[in-house]
Amino acid sequence: MADQDGSEPTQTEIDHHLMVTFCRTLDSTALQPMTVMRMMASALGAIYRQTSASHHEQVCPCGWQPLPSDVETLLAEIEAEHADCRQGLRRAEPARAVNRAGG
Ligand SMILES: [Zn+2]
Repeated sequence: MADQDGSEPTQTEIDHHLMVTFCRTLDSTALQPMTVMRMMASALGAIYRQTSASHHEQVCPCGWQPLPSDVETLLAEIEAEHADCRQGLRRAEPARAVNRAGG
């Protein structure tokens, strides 16, 4: 990964910050997990919309060009994590069965 040199926020740091936000929101409100996740997805969409707008207006000099496929790319990341999640649940099945059997 390109973020291993310590000069940029790592995926691990971003994961941590979002998990902290998620858990604090669950702890401090009566909201359901899916409601909080939808709020987080909405926030990510807003970040994308504002960032892509400023790049269409060429406010930022970094050179990034928003693409029509960007949202599909973001959704594919969620799908990929979800696929990992499903595999993880399948791997965890025998352990849960053992736990139930063991009382
Ligand atoms: Zn930029």
